[in-house]
Amino acid sequence: MLPEKCSIRMNGKSCSFPPSSIVSILSESGEYMIGLVCNDHIMSMKTKTLSMQKSGKISKGKIKFQRLKPVMTDCVLNLKDID
Ligand SMILES: [Zn+2]
Repeated sequence: MLPEKCSIRMNGKSCSFPPSSIVSILSESGEYMIGLVCNDHIMSMKTKTLSMQKSGKISKGKIKFQRLKPVMTDCVLNLKDID
């Protein structure tokens, strides 16, 4: 089940932007999703994930950001994916 909002909380308030990327951890036992994040919070998510890995709350491994496919395509220019 995917939440429909960015997983980042700032000052106790959850972000209400639509997520743009799936955040997952590539650990030795496999890849698993830890949340979704909007464009503005990719760096915050990276920092948060690293500190959670440091404190042992989540598995160590590479943090992966995978872009979500846009839901609305009507007005999107056909730009090449940066990934
Ligand atoms: Zn956000």
